[in-house]
Amino acid sequence: MKSIEKFSQVSERLEQLKEEMINLQRELVSRVAVGPDNDGPGEGEKAAFLENLLTGWGLKVENYPAPDPRAAGGERPNLVAWLPGKRPDKVWVLSHLDVVPPGDLDLWDSDPYTLRVEGDRLIGRGTEDNHQGMVSSLMAVKALLDLGITPPRTVGLALVADEETGSHKGLEFLLKTQPQLFSAQDLIIVPDAGSEDSTLVEVAEKSVLWLRLTLLGQQCHASRPLLGKNTLRAAAHVIVALEALHQEFAGHNPLFDPPESTFEPTQKEANVGNINTIPGRDVFYLDCRVLPEFDLGQVRTRIKTIARKTAAKFGVTVTVDPVQELESAPATDPEAPVVQALVRAIREVYGREAKPQGIGGGTVAAFFRQRRLPAAVWMTVSHSAHQPNEFCLLSNLVNDARVMAHVFLEE
Ligand SMILES: [Zn+2]
Repeated sequence: MKSIEKFSQVSERLEQLKEEMINLQRELVSRVAVGPDNDGPGEGEKAAFLENLLTGWGLKVENYPAPDPRAAGGERPNLVAWLPGKRPDKVWVLSHLDVVPPGDLDLWDSDPYTLRVEGDRLIGRGTEDNHQGMVSSLMAVKALLDLGITPPRTVGLALVADEETGSHKGLEFLLKTQPQLFSAQDLIIVPDAGSEDSTLVEVAEKSVLWLRLTLLGQQCHASRPLLGKNTLRAAAHVIVALEALHQEFAGHNPLFDPPESTFEPTQKEANVGNINTIPGRDVFYLDCRVLPEFDLGQVRTRIKTIARKTAAKFGVTVTVDPVQELESAPATDPEAPVVQALVRAIREVYGREAKPQGIGGGTVAAFFRQRRLPAAVWMTVSHSAHQPNEFCLLSNLVNDARVMAHVFLEE
């Protein structure tokens, strides 16, 4: 049978698996997998369910747990399930087991941990982030199994812990302790970001720099400003002066959207409690997303210099403290086989031309890229991750599963 015929059979089979997709979402949603950093029990219950399910399908499943005394069972599971192919080289789909807490329950229309089906919408915590990637990849494998099709490459499903709180007990741990699992020849798909029209194949990420700027002056009565040093006025001037960063680091990289570095003042801590007091202490934060061609150290140094010079005009001092500093990993080549395989599959399934692109946010794929493992991040998103009433579309589950099956079937 030709691979095109196999694909149309698999595609049809996936349509028939809709009910199973809903049921799997229901099972996953009901198993609370909030990590200990977010005061949850960890991923143990969900992983045990999945291990049982996949073993029942006849897959070999391995667990590489990271010790974590805070989690139920004392460890954070990292599962790898194998569907043997005709060849030993691999195609991977990595999804994560953990979810973020539901947040304010009043903002939910129903229990976050009970799946609600509303037309094409499947609603519940985790349905999009990251059950969508998990269910679509598992069901793509299930369709091959049901039809008795052996894929050319061996398929590896990695189901990891701790993505939402740093991946130290998840992918980072797996890569450190089991580096032999992955090779630069493998195709690695991470279905954890994308666009609503399915055309964004994420291959690069900007460097991330979060800074806290603390300005110290002199508090006094607002009727006698000369007695004090107004840190809010100084902060306003500092914020305006920092606009110069756009010129100083003025690269344009069409791989990214937006194609330039961004430097945004964001959070501002409360200062004085009343109108007639001049503040003597102000704290605000900068969120910088910097193109990989620039050195974060240089950006940080310039921010310090500009802030200090500007604040000094008002007799105010500034300290600049890093909150997060993440130098971007080397980009995945837009011509890499995994990217091109996804582009072909998206064309076939969605009828659209996908585009390899960089984004401003960070994903777990950075851990692969730091090790020069070419990972592509892709899924069809609904932009409801981390929100109340999180949902995914059943139609996206089916079609994303088809895209993955198309990649699995490529020679
Ligand atoms: Zn996620």
